[in-house]
Amino acid sequence: MTFSGLAPRRMFLTIVIGLAAILSLSAQQKPDCTVRVTLLQVNDVYQFAPVDLGTRGGLARLLTLKKTIQKESPNTLFLLSGDTISPSVESITYKGAQMIDSWNTAQLDYSTFGNHEFDFGPEVLRQRMQESKFKWVVANVIDKKTGKPFGDAQAYVVREFDGVKVAILGLTLEETKITSRPGPDVEFLSPCETAKKVVKDIHAHGIKTVIALTHLSMSEDKEVARCADVDVIIGGHEHTLLESESGGAPIFKMTADAREMGQIDLNISKNTGAVESIDWKVIPVTNEITDDPEFAAINRKYGTLIKELAKLVGRTSVDLDARSKAGRTQETNIGDFIADAFRAATGADVAVLNGGSIRADEITKAGPLTRRDVLSMLPFKNKVVKVEVSGAVLRQVLEHGVARSAEDAEPGRFPQVSGIRYTFDARRPAGSRIVDLSINGKPLDVSKTYTLAATDYVAIDGGDGYEMLKAARVLLPRERAQFDSDVLQAAIVARKTIAPKTDGRIKRLDQNQQPKSDCQ
Ligand SMILES: [Zn+2]
Repeated sequence: MTFSGLAPRRMFLTIVIGLAAILSLSAQQKPDCTVRVTLLQVNDVYQFAPVDLGTRGGLARLLTLKKTIQKESPNTLFLLSGDTISPSVESITYKGAQMIDSWNTAQLDYSTFGNHEFDFGPEVLRQRMQESKFKWVVANVIDKKTGKPFGDAQAYVVREFDGVKVAILGLTLEETKITSRPGPDVEFLSPCETAKKVVKDIHAHGIKTVIALTHLSMSEDKEVARCADVDVIIGGHEHTLLESESGGAPIFKMTADAREMGQIDLNISKNTGAVESIDWKVIPVTNEITDDPEFAAINRKYGTLIKELAKLVGRTSVDLDARSKAGRTQETNIGDFIADAFRAATGADVAVLNGGSIRADEITKAGPLTRRDVLSMLPFKNKVVKVEVSGAVLRQVLEHGVARSAEDAEPGRFPQVSGIRYTFDARRPAGSRIVDLSINGKPLDVSKTYTLAATDYVAIDGGDGYEMLKAARVLLPRERAQFDSDVLQAAIVARKTIAPKTDGRIKRLDQNQQPKSDCQ
């Protein structure tokens, strides 16, 4: 989600190269013989409001840009390369409806699915598609019951401008099947094989210009460009500004949250209907661009929630490490702080928190902390319960917590703790990796009883494989328990300014070991 340190320089180069391309070509172009079709690109947009403290992004600014560009280039198509319904703090409440509303107002033309479009399940996505005034295009996400693209999506759409036809086909990551919640009735086909077939069909209809609107990894985009005759790939997913070329087709990806808008001009021959040349530039979306007044209705509609989320909760005088990878592999200052808050709020002896429940996936910079920051870190609305366990079960809990630490790069079950100090060695066999374990300063006593604070997801439902806790006696049931985000917020409010530091409660002996990777 964060802006890569390299990006501004790349972006500058891009603009220079893009402008140079336009300048050099404009002298040679014969305007009568070509039709210019302008593609406006954004991808991975989770916020309709500006991000980075209001300095970047914002769909109201995109609408201003779109209208300005369309005046100069009437054949303009506004495209979103997927990932918008989830995840965001607003989507906890609206399940993505706020984004559809915003895209409708911003006059989006087409979108493909990102892997996150299925996060709330297929029925919610169907609902969101029905609310969309723009069209969804996807060729490789198939409803098994109909054999057709999911919902009312089309494999591709055709548009005609001044006598030339262009086709836009959509493609989505196959891994969405396992990383999101599409359910058993949705099938994901190979992007390459699908593109081959669909482009053949497009060509059979006499259409030469093919735009692939994709949400794939760069390596898959490159593969698609090699196995199908597409003219340009408008992609996404990486959250990094990328420009590549494969199989003769340029591939573009913006970062995320509309920090930039790509403008890609296809110069298409009127005689042949084929792309003759392509110009492009990356336009930074900054606070120098005014909001389109049409967007005010959206701000009014969702303003209450946005204001609620902007409410100041307290401050942090240090950066908070809420990166997913850190919370799933090592002790973090925010992991310690949340686990301590869980323990204090329930009066338990110890607390265990699965690292995967800490989200945000960013370093929250020292400074003010808002309700949005709190909910970004703990978005699941789990309850903080208290159970009673024997020392033997508590040991099993921690062994389970590190049982995938050598096998997975980012195991969600990894235990952030409070009242516990442990040392583990992931080179040892799973089940005997904890080599040192103390509870509130004393060695763990397997026959002693301890009280444990954890989320209901882990302690009651046995989520993330914590099955051994399902049998534990419940002291504070979820019906009477507080939400995890409320416990965290109260702990910040009580201190006004927090400064959590790691204190070495988790030690890892195989720190420098990298998880095995297969070279293919
Ligand atoms: Zn994605």
